[in-house]
Amino acid sequence: MLSVEEALAKVLEHARRLPPTSVALADAAGLVLAEDIASDVDSPPHDKSIVDGYAVRSADVLAGQLELDVIEEVLAGQVPQCTLEPRQATRIMTGAPIPQGADAVVMLERTALLPAESSSSSLVTVRIESGIFRPGQNIVRRGACMRQGEIVLTAGRMIRPIEIGVLAETGHIQVSVVPRPLVAVLATGNELVPADTPPAAGQIRNSNGPMLAALVERCDCIATNLGIGRDDEAHLHELVKRGLEADVLVLSGGVSAGVLDLAPQVFNVLGVQQVFHKVSLKPGKPLWFGVWRGADRQTLVYGLPGNPVSSLVCFELFVRPALGRLMGRDDMDLRRETRALASDFQHRGDRPTYHPSRIASGAIEPLSWQGSGDLRTLVDATALAHFPTGDRAHRAGELVEVFEF
Ligand code: AMP
Ligand code: MG
Repeated sequence: MLSVEEALAKVLEHARRLPPTSVALADAAGLVLAEDIASDVDSPPHDKSIVDGYAVRSADVLAGQLELDVIEEVLAGQVPQCTLEPRQATRIMTGAPIPQGADAVVMLERTALLPAESSSSSLVTVRIESGIFRPGQNIVRRGACMRQGEIVLTAGRMIRPIEIGVLAETGHIQVSVVPRPLVAVLATGNELVPADTPPAAGQIRNSNGPMLAALVERCDCIATNLGIGRDDEAHLHELVKRGLEADVLVLSGGVSAGVLDLAPQVFNVLGVQQVFHKVSLKPGKPLWFGVWRGADRQTLVYGLPGNPVSSLVCFELFVRPALGRLMGRDDMDLRRETRALASDFQHRGDRPTYHPSRIASGAIEPLSWQGSGDLRTLVDATALAHFPTGDRAHRAGELVEVFEF
């Protein structure tokens, strides 16, 4: 039987990044960029002022010439028409282009307009406060942030709101991205009824279907729920066939050794190639994994054990990391860390156990649960604590490996 590490390695061998698709910029957030992005503009597109104030000639100011005729006003979006001659200034707003002749901007707060001296002049005069002044001040040069043709984002980068802004700034209204995987979820079992149906004798509600779909969505993938498959070859065949249209099929139930555990043989008939069946793991030993290959695409196929806790643990250990690879993301794996046990814990088991646990005040506290069917106790779980094979009394404070949800 494969170890968890061996099984995961085999899963990841087959979990290839999905081929890129083109999406509108508005739909690109949260996806991984599949192309390098070059700027089609200089940014800023012109030497620009970063304050509201007066564009001046440094030579004037440095020579002590602090009273200047204001020859023009340039608002953001306008282009200056006049070239500054000695003793002249242009009133300028944040973001506006610097006029010819100017090489510094003095912020408004450090200036004062003088009363008109003579009625013959239509020009107003501004006085610059003496004090700190540096040629080039308050100007950002054309192309200082990015140059036309420069690669500003590289393929493989997660598109966050910041990247959306850069894509917009460079005019990329369509972008090539790694799409969200489509994941079909199929619960199987004759005993299952949908959550909106009162269970009759011998029946239970389907909790795995909605739970797995929610896990898929939490992984930023698209879940499509195929409902409940009966333990009947023809019915399973039809539903699994539909599931093979997705990038990933997550089936639960019917992969153990019971009389009606038909999933592996249905997979086989439909041409899904088994990669492994059974992992040395508790809970989750009956896990089945295979790949269906079509002409130009493939489907990763999981048969998760039907017990809800087993389904959850197998999803977190084996499905989640694969979904990350399909999306080109490296931030999807469960976080592995080491924590001290909150209290003494007696572990018994012939397999490595991933025990639902709670992190409290930094320590790890294994939950006492009634086995793989006990989803209710897991409501408090925030992590899985890993205990190696064998019966052993672990002491409070002992360090154990922990996988945080
Ligand atoms: P199986 O893997 O089909 O042998 O199922 C193992 C156990 O999990 C049985 O007790 C099933 O009733 C239970 N089970 C299977 N599928 C589900 C499901 N979708 N929701 C809740 N319990 C399930
Ligand atoms: Mg079953």
